[in-house]
Amino acid sequence: MDFTLSAEVDAARLKARQFVIDEVLPVEADKNNYDAHENITLAALAPLREKAKSIGLWAPQMPVERGGMGLTTIGMAAVYEEMNRSIFGPVAINCAAPDDGNMFLLNRVGTEAQKQKWLQPIIDGDVHSSFVMTEPHPGSGSDPSMMLTKAEPISNSKWRITGRKWYITGAESATHFILMARTSDDPRKGLSAFLFHKNQPGWRIVRRIPIMGPEEHGGHCEIEFDGLEIDDSDRLMEVGDGLKATQIRLGTARLTHCMRWLGLAKRSMEIARDYVEDREGFGSKLIDRESVQIKLGETAHEIEMGRLIVMKAAWKLDQGDFARQEVSMAKIHVADTLHKAVDTAIQLNGARGYSKDTVLEWIYRYARQARLVDGASEVHKMVLARFYRRDGTDFWRWGV
Ligand SMILES: Cc1cc2nc3c(=O)[nH]c(=O)nc-3n(C[C@H](O)[C@H](O)[C@H](O)COP(=O)(O)OP(=O)(O)OC[C@H]3O[C@@H](n4cnc5c(N)ncnc54)[C@H](O)[C@@H]3O)c2cc1C
Repeated sequence: MDFTLSAEVDAARLKARQFVIDEVLPVEADKNNYDAHENITLAALAPLREKAKSIGLWAPQMPVERGGMGLTTIGMAAVYEEMNRSIFGPVAINCAAPDDGNMFLLNRVGTEAQKQKWLQPIIDGDVHSSFVMTEPHPGSGSDPSMMLTKAEPISNSKWRITGRKWYITGAESATHFILMARTSDDPRKGLSAFLFHKNQPGWRIVRRIPIMGPEEHGGHCEIEFDGLEIDDSDRLMEVGDGLKATQIRLGTARLTHCMRWLGLAKRSMEIARDYVEDREGFGSKLIDRESVQIKLGETAHEIEMGRLIVMKAAWKLDQGDFARQEVSMAKIHVADTLHKAVDTAIQLNGARGYSKDTVLEWIYRYARQARLVDGASEVHKMVLARFYRRDGTDFWRWGV
């Protein structure tokens, strides 16, 4: 087993680290750079993105020939973790959700024409995108087989979409959409994936749903489809491949969430450490109290366990494996670790932790979604139990 990074990946990681220190953290520290939804303003984002592009720190997950950095999943893990030392880091170099996962899917399964039309503008940073899957009750959420949104053929070359979706991240500012809809009642091949542009008629945003945490640009929206027409050339993969497309997207997208969350967890510890190293009480520095050290030690080890499982999953994905077990384990563990890290950091910072003087309260509210998005933790545990029931003690096998 080799846990070293290649020289190229480490150079990219260090470049990301420096960019965050020199460019992103100063922007994050100025409250004028926050929009009404607690994300970076577009005015502050534009120069950061220009700078990132100019130093070749852009779209780490995309091929070099399309303007990205061509990193493997292992390379992405190293760079994404560094970038999310700042809450504004990932979006500054075009590796934030949901564009990140959407680019990954389009690059993996799109035809050349589809990549040129739908993917390249996202890579270039000219447009944003959304992934449209979850529906209000009684439609699909954790269970995609409950999907009600329908795509019906209206000719050999066109589909008509009707239905309702919600919690669609980025929908208010997205131009390109990847939509999951039902095309038949087949339990395995009943869903298909489609692409549409915001200017196509036949759909509308019903509302931007207020949430407890800071929002991605474009918010989280409820959407209604009432006769959106989509050309068959804008269908992604084959009819019936919607579930497969979702699995391809979410396998890596869930893991890239974990990569970024580890960066936020480390940042939380960093803020806690700075405070307890300086702060005194009852005749000693807080850092010299064993109970404080236990908190730091526990969080540090949870983060490292998260990094190991993320790297194992990344390695398996790079070998062409779906890494379903590892991705589910990473998603459960890192979501919990992010909670623990930021909660501990707030506690160790005392009242300051609860204030808006640091980014801890921002991260704390953001962290609550980690156990829900892209599969609730309970669902990932159910998936793991299925593997365990199938494989028994070989659940813990080694590759040889
Ligand atoms: C901030 C945010 C952003 C999102 N962005 C998007 C997006 O861009 N596109 C999109 O399509 N969706 C998005 N979603 C939706 C998200 O993917 C769903 O919320 C998630 O899949 C869970 O579905 P649900 O909310 O319908 O929960 P439900 O399926 O109604 O489940 C509710 C709860 O029941 C429990 N539960 C469910 N199944 C099981 C089980 N098998 N065993 C035990 N317990 C279970 C879990 O605790 C779960 O949280 C987003 C959600 C949030 C909060």
